[in-house]
Amino acid sequence: MLTCKQFLQELSDFLDESVDPALRAEVERHVNQCPNCWVVCDTARKTLKVFKGMDAHAVPEHVQRKLLSALEKAIADKKGVDASPPVGH
Ligand SMILES: [Zn+2]
Repeated sequence: MLTCKQFLQELSDFLDESVDPALRAEVERHVNQCPNCWVVCDTARKTLKVFKGMDAHAVPEHVQRKLLSALEKAIADKKGVDASPPVGH
């Protein structure tokens, strides 16, 4: 049984379908038993579909915008930690 941490480490490979069948089965078993990871996997899958243009209408535009702004905020917050303090304030 994978831990949630291991699951997250394997998630991108899992979604990429490049993971080996044994590990894939482990990941699938974890997803089916862990509601948190199920949500993460489901969301990632839908997002990936949109990016691949396979199912562009699955996520409504306002949701995509929300997702993007949340992502931008997360990136901005992360940058804020590393950036030098504001000057001339
Ligand atoms: Zn989990």
